[in-house]
Amino acid sequence: MTLTEKILARHSGRASVQPGDNIWVDVDVLMTHDVCGPGTIGVFHQNFGRQAKVWDRDKVVIIPDHYIFTADAMANRNVDVLRAFVAEQNLPHFYDVGTERYKGVCHIALPEEGHTRPGEILLGTDSHTCTAGAFGEFATGIGNTDAGFVMGTGKTWLKVPPTLRFVFHGELPPYLMAKDLILAVIGDIGCDGATYMAMEFDGDGVYCLNIEERMTLCNMAIEAGGKNGIIRADQKTVDFVKSRDKSAKPFVVEQSDSDAPFAREWVYDVTKLRPVVAKPHSPDNRAYVDEIQGTPIDRAYIGSCTGGKMTDFRAAARILNGHSVKIDTFVVPATTEIARLLKTERIDGGQTLEEIFLNAGAKIGEASCAACLGGPSDTFGRLNSAIKCISTTNRNFPGRMGHKQAEVFLASPLTVAASALRGSITDPREYLS
Ligand code: SF4
Repeated sequence: MTLTEKILARHSGRASVQPGDNIWVDVDVLMTHDVCGPGTIGVFHQNFGRQAKVWDRDKVVIIPDHYIFTADAMANRNVDVLRAFVAEQNLPHFYDVGTERYKGVCHIALPEEGHTRPGEILLGTDSHTCTAGAFGEFATGIGNTDAGFVMGTGKTWLKVPPTLRFVFHGELPPYLMAKDLILAVIGDIGCDGATYMAMEFDGDGVYCLNIEERMTLCNMAIEAGGKNGIIRADQKTVDFVKSRDKSAKPFVVEQSDSDAPFAREWVYDVTKLRPVVAKPHSPDNRAYVDEIQGTPIDRAYIGSCTGGKMTDFRAAARILNGHSVKIDTFVVPATTEIARLLKTERIDGGQTLEEIFLNAGAKIGEASCAACLGGPSDTFGRLNSAIKCISTTNRNFPGRMGHKQAEVFLASPLTVAASALRGSITDPREYLS
């Protein structure tokens, strides 16, 4: 069996499963946020009753993160619905806005707070829940109806997906990041190339990546239609998980059998890749940066669950250090922990990352999804007019970051930072000695 099949088999009480099997599985963690939480709670109440209790209060995690710093009354009401439900159910894992516990983007908050463990099943009411596959677990997004059912029963029904294997060899050159790898993959297979399939990332090129870069790979599996992205846990994963999981729950590290039946395999030599962008209006509209170098842009955005982690900001700071941006540049840490680190971590003992960004002329927002999903018109960094933006986020469909006529180019933090300095799409190799 593949890694995904092994996890699903164990959670369904079977010795083995194969692609196409329909199975009931026990869920380890259910996450919801301010956009889908109210709908999920409504489904739960409607089907299990007003007095019903969630199946396991320790396994439900509620993370407001999307439309947070806004005056929009409906957005604020959504967070109030979460608060009322958490109080009603006495849920321990709630990261409320305006409190010390507030975290920011759910997919980064989950591992930071110890909710991701190898071998588990993590479901969330958000398509990028697949990010947690970086920890060797089965993680996928589900709709409010399924999530309401999981809340009441701890179970869900799944069809076992076939697995595609993507093998990366070699060590990433300093001008490339995991974002370039996943954009290259999506460019090769298309937005529907992995529809309802597991995308397993493997090879020495993956295991040299740090945990955050592995999260970037799995995060965008959904942009190829993948059911889940997944990477076998290694020592780096185990060390990270143990350092974060206060519950010290035991977990099982699985791996694909050497003769596992992969539906198809792609092999990449990462040393031969070049910086990649996805042009408007689709993540599979691939171009190499050197092919569209010089394309004028109006805005740069560095943030989100894809490109708002410490590794992303370190990379951007390497480029921006000592320079000034030519266009509006927005920096949004994914979580409050990352926001704090921006204030303390220094490059080569000099300025902090925050000082580098501010001195370069960038604006720094509060930890949240901010403009990644557009949001209300007062959202930090939102594209409120038909401008061109280069962004470290994961989706560039029309209207995704706000205005329907805005154009979004997806790229790595290195490419976004280099482009911010020129005001046009720029190859990061021009700023890296
Ligand atoms: S940062 Fe963007 S992609 Fe990630 S959870 Fe928020 S809105 Fe979704």
